[in-house]
Amino acid sequence: MAVHESDICIIGGGITSAMLALKLSELRPRASIVVVEAGRSIFDAQNRGRYRERAIHYGEHPWHDDYIEDQQGKGTISMTMAVGGLALHWGGACNRFSEEDLRLKSMYGLAVDWPIEWKELERYYCEAERRLHVAGEPSPYPGDGRSEPYPQPPIPLSYNLQILKQWAETSGLKFNSLPMARNMTPFDGRGACCVYDTCGEVCPSGARYSPDFTFRQLVQPKKITLHDRTLVRRLTLDAAKPAVVSAQGFRQDGPSGDDGAIEYRAKTFVIASGYCWSSHLLLLSSNSRFPNGLANGSGLVGRHMNGHKFIGATATIDAETFPGQNMTHSLISREYFRCRTDRPFVRHDTRVWESSSGREPRLRSPEGRLLLGDEVMTDWRSRTRGSAVRLRAYYDIHPSTDSRLTLDAANRNRHGDPMPKIEHQLDAASQAREGATAEHIRGVFNTLAKASNGRVGNTNTGDYLDHPGGGCRMGTDPATSVCDSFGRTHDHENLFIVGAPTTPTGGCTNGTLTFVALTLRSAEEIAGAHGR
Ligand SMILES: Cc1cc2nc3c(=O)[nH]c(=O)nc-3n(C[C@H](O)[C@H](O)[C@H](O)COP(=O)(O)OP(=O)(O)OC[C@H]3O[C@@H](n4cnc5c(N)ncnc54)[C@H](O)[C@@H]3O)c2cc1C
Ligand code: SF4
Repeated sequence: MAVHESDICIIGGGITSAMLALKLSELRPRASIVVVEAGRSIFDAQNRGRYRERAIHYGEHPWHDDYIEDQQGKGTISMTMAVGGLALHWGGACNRFSEEDLRLKSMYGLAVDWPIEWKELERYYCEAERRLHVAGEPSPYPGDGRSEPYPQPPIPLSYNLQILKQWAETSGLKFNSLPMARNMTPFDGRGACCVYDTCGEVCPSGARYSPDFTFRQLVQPKKITLHDRTLVRRLTLDAAKPAVVSAQGFRQDGPSGDDGAIEYRAKTFVIASGYCWSSHLLLLSSNSRFPNGLANGSGLVGRHMNGHKFIGATATIDAETFPGQNMTHSLISREYFRCRTDRPFVRHDTRVWESSSGREPRLRSPEGRLLLGDEVMTDWRSRTRGSAVRLRAYYDIHPSTDSRLTLDAANRNRHGDPMPKIEHQLDAASQAREGATAEHIRGVFNTLAKASNGRVGNTNTGDYLDHPGGGCRMGTDPATSVCDSFGRTHDHENLFIVGAPTTPTGGCTNGTLTFVALTLRSAEEIAGAHGR
């Protein structure tokens, strides 16, 4: 069997892994670091404009082959497994959580407090924003104070968003341009945003940060070694101590005649495999000494799976906009991030996008008659009076202990390993307030709409939890948590878990900036374990 030795072995190649590998390579330039990623490398930014065109012309998937056919869980938000992870396709929205997220127990008697002070986490938010080159402006709410300015000014508001901001603020809520990890001018080898408006699918200019760029920058000068198309199937322990000695992998591209097996030996192992596969790997790695899985002395691996729920709506208002200017950018209000402790608990963000729903130009009338010449414009003008607006609120809910990832014996990969199954479950307090929360959010949407003689139609509630995390929650007590605030597992001193899986609760806005900030903090502890 092939054996690979390094100082630090990072399992998974998503955004948290990229940030960890980058920072470790700076802090410990002499340490050997290997990143092992199950999926393939897609280092082809130069082709992305073409992929986008083919998607438009032929309906082709612009990210073909970014997943592994037989490595799929149930209850996941995306199938993507490739170098860059889910953030190959992310929108780049980079909101911070707020201090309330870290103090839910002490402020509201709900869920649990995070074992980290806001002031400390805030420093790592600044670092994450610098490294992801976030464009943003300070929030108008004093509670959202920052110790450093954003590294770039905000993305300018389109004419439409300027009109929608005036409209939305008539309600008394304050809005600002959503912070985004997008280059406004060329930076770090990536181009500037040309407002192609396709951020959610493919960014042809590279302006939107994605981790494949960081990996390429680390691999070419040999600052790290990257083994792609290599699935880590199990971690094994030292015979005498509860320290991890190896990660057992399978290489899809091993030499011919080889069974694909590869063993990674390292001083420190870091699981950066995201919200789903991190707990999964720990559960798969059970042995006679740890029959419930590694790092699972508490029995909490795969539990407290979290995220946030959401309610969306479309509204029509009288204020005039022109459909289709910049639909992937949006406004955010953090008005309801803070909840008075003497009021019923409700926390959510409030987002506003322009929408062209039902307002695209068309060549046929509803009866199917071909529209020609001026008829096209007349029809279009008649349908574009006023504005359509898309609204959404991510709201704060908390997981019960039974919000779980388990091994699904009925669904196995080619090696016979059971695949993960995630079933979210809210705690009793979250369930009890669901109706009141939905009513509050619908009230906010109605208040917004009324400001311009508008009305809200089509309200819908998401049927999954977005920006999922959990499964290996952090804490100070080994009986009630899996790892400490740096991600070091309570049970194995040389095994860390970083980012999303370590979060005790899922906040009420996009989570990735928080996952990265936590990971950058972990990086210092992991580097510290490798001497000065
Ligand atoms: C369409 C879309 C849009 C999004 N937009 C936003 C947004 O605008 N803002 C925001 O905050 N968030 C957004 N998100 C969420 C965001 O992408 C994720 O939170 C983030 O990318 C998670 O990064 P990660 O490093 O934790 O995990 P992942 O991206 O899941 O990376 C983990 C990696 O580990 C690999 N891996 C797993 N197990 C193993 C193993 N055993 N061996 C080897 N490799 C393994 C996987 O293949 C994967 O590449 C979006 C997500 C999607 C799908
Ligand atoms: S608007 Fe276009 S160029 Fe700008 S970040 Fe999005 S996809 Fe990239």
